[in-house]
Amino acid sequence: MKTIGLIGGLSWESSAVYYRIINESIRAKLGGTHSAKCIMYSVDFAEFEKLQQKNEWGKLTDLMIDAGISLKNGGADFMVICTNTMHKMAEEVEAEVGIPLLHIADAAADEIKKTGLRKVALLGTKFTMEQDFYKQRLAHNHGLEVLIPDQFDREIIHSVIYHELVVGKIIESSRQALAKIIERMCYQGAEGVVLGCTEIPLLIRQVDSIVPIFDTTRIHAYAAVEYALQ
Ligand code: GLU
Repeated sequence: MKTIGLIGGLSWESSAVYYRIINESIRAKLGGTHSAKCIMYSVDFAEFEKLQQKNEWGKLTDLMIDAGISLKNGGADFMVICTNTMHKMAEEVEAEVGIPLLHIADAAADEIKKTGLRKVALLGTKFTMEQDFYKQRLAHNHGLEVLIPDQFDREIIHSVIYHELVVGKIIESSRQALAKIIERMCYQGAEGVVLGCTEIPLLIRQVDSIVPIFDTTRIHAYAAVEYALQ
């Protein structure tokens, strides 16, 4: 079994889910008392959030590279970045650290393609929805058509993530607001919804959507287990 290197804390609310799914999945596959070989480098989210707000992506890239190097030095065979947003610098991190990085958008796209769906809505932070690093990977590398909510709805999702989900608040009215946004995206042609923020699955479940949801936390954690056992 390979040792999984997780960059976590972004936020820890979802890193905890990664840890649980990875270990449950290893036990389901190997049985007995088996558990995952993994190392988590968990950061202080407040530092990262501040830099994101100030658009200090260069500094954030350096911090992500440092985290990756620590994982590599600790014995990690490959990296898993436990957030969609911080895949903005995935290529630089992989190149500088020098061990493979299992990209969350590739894992999500592989799952979407298995279902035969082509047109998906992307829900995530404003960075993930508005910038190209994620959408383009889904579109160019995987041939998917990606729809994003309008600006008003993007603000709602972003605010729910940063003011509620990353601090452990699960609020029913926010669940309903996001379910309404999903419904609007379906009327625009979305055949599936990518929960492209690792905390959104804490709020939105399949029952909240009339089309299939793709939970990137779960998908990415399973992909890490598959890769670790290869
Ligand atoms: N975990 C979130 C994501 O998947 C947002 C937190 C962050 O900015 O990394 O994008």
